[in-house]
Amino acid sequence: MDNKRIIIAIDGHSSCGKSTFAKAIAARLGYIFIDTGAMYRAVTLYALEHGAICSGMVDEAAVEAMLDHINIDFRFNPQRGASDIYVNGDLVEGKIRTIEVSNCVSAVSSIAAVRRKLVAMQQQMGLKRGVVMDGRDIGTVVFPEAELKIYMTADPMVRAERRFKELTAKGDKVTLEQIYENVVSRDEADMTRAISPLRKADDAIVLDNSQMSVEEQMAWFMERYNEVISR
Ligand code: C5P
Repeated sequence: MDNKRIIIAIDGHSSCGKSTFAKAIAARLGYIFIDTGAMYRAVTLYALEHGAICSGMVDEAAVEAMLDHINIDFRFNPQRGASDIYVNGDLVEGKIRTIEVSNCVSAVSSIAAVRRKLVAMQQQMGLKRGVVMDGRDIGTVVFPEAELKIYMTADPMVRAERRFKELTAKGDKVTLEQIYENVVSRDEADMTRAISPLRKADDAIVLDNSQMSVEEQMAWFMERYNEVISR
């Protein structure tokens, strides 16, 4: 498979560093990185800002009715070495990772019409191949034919501590307990929803990075990647 550009699907639990890992892989291989969680978060942010979510209750019909007015696109930001997400031309990258969005995103992502729209966009973005896409259903639904599938996980407290450090470094006022609860409840919601629940694809390789540095994860990945490429 020399010189072939493949599709790399990275699924797994919340906050286990999927995007950081996927971004590093894309930079190493010269591939495009697509953070599909950012797309579900962008729809959630729009729903929050346009009255479709009240006190944490998501009005599914209202979200569905809004979908045609939500235009999502990614634009490469050389400073970050990754793409920023825009909704209707507005940069929302800095607004989609708040605890408020995190607490509502699983409910929004379980709406069938939301998934239909975003999955179609993701499949379109992967047409040219040479992509690393991270999410919950990439290896099972979006690209079941992906050549390399990784299922990431880590101890929930380790994940909560990592996310806590990230958010407090940005100045967000959150507690470790709030983050831990969000991580555990999102896993539960994502794994038990009716449509495209998070599950390991039969042909995915598990990566538990609880005790691994980013460099160790990259070394682990390159071994698997070289195996696939040399087939
Ligand atoms: O990856 P991230 O944690 O930012 O994803 C936010 C949420 O978006 C997840 O908890 C999940 O509910 C939803 N999601 C999804 N399918 C994807 C990616 C994310 O349902 N492919």
